[in-house]
Amino acid sequence: MKFEVTILGSSSATPVYNRNPTAQLLNCNEKFYLIDCGEGTQQQLIKYGFKASKIDYVFISHLHGDHYFGLIGLLSSLHLNGRVKPIKIFAPEPLQEILALQFKYSETVIRYPIEFVATQTNEPVQIFENADLVVDTFVLNHRIPCTGFKFTQKKRLRKLIVDKLESEHIDIEYYPLLKRGVDLNLPDGRIILNKDYTTDSDTPKKYGYCSDTLFDERYFGSITDCDLLYHEATFLHDMLDRANVTHHTTALQAGEIAKMTGAVKLLIGHFSSRYKTLQGLLDEARSVFENTELAIEGNTYTI
Ligand SMILES: [Zn+2]
Ligand SMILES: [Zn+2]
Repeated sequence: MKFEVTILGSSSATPVYNRNPTAQLLNCNEKFYLIDCGEGTQQQLIKYGFKASKIDYVFISHLHGDHYFGLIGLLSSLHLNGRVKPIKIFAPEPLQEILALQFKYSETVIRYPIEFVATQTNEPVQIFENADLVVDTFVLNHRIPCTGFKFTQKKRLRKLIVDKLESEHIDIEYYPLLKRGVDLNLPDGRIILNKDYTTDSDTPKKYGYCSDTLFDERYFGSITDCDLLYHEATFLHDMLDRANVTHHTTALQAGEIAKMTGAVKLLIGHFSSRYKTLQGLLDEARSVFENTELAIEGNTYTI
């Protein structure tokens, strides 16, 4: 099952050096989940060959413009392109009012349902579940209320050893039971032990998304053992004072967080406009956590 994330924007605050404000597209089993929606997200989707119409879920971390200014445009385009199926938005509660105002004064009546789920309770909470995925929120420490998201794959059914089942003429009507781990007593007297005819499904993977935040141990418990951890790394560590004032994280701290929480791989992003090249940020994070990569726009990272 596909579980991967494509970076659409990696810049903090403003678009600069061909970097766009934050947005990511998560593909889980060919269902698409948009995570943050900075200005220019629509163009980025087009540039990298994704159809906005396939997005059914949007997760917005907080209401700084670099994380949602692209949303009204995206929603409007979906309307103009004739969308009828609902879209579900998980976001800070005031976003509902912001969108309503924008639609009101443009006299736009969106022709598809927008289902809005307010985030930012004070506790981590599960906000979404379907057959593929569970999504939990957690509280980050930023200048305004800010939510991180953890996307966890669901445990899949057991995998059938089809060659063996076919060669022993075991009827396909038994396959669903075998996938669920059941042993069989066949009418012809044969006993089919599940473990001989199936293998375990892949271990469910976890993607942690830490948008803008100070280094704060209180959320670390929500991101333990991520297979891929995205963490903002706005500044180099020589800018720690600035990071503390603006409630951001340094690349060194992002590396430390990945190490402390047992991440398999770290992806850093939300780069300050003061950095034209990003190698310094990468080197710094790698000095404490080797398996780090830069969030490069257009790149897809398997989780
Ligand atoms: Zn930001
Ligand atoms: Zn912010």
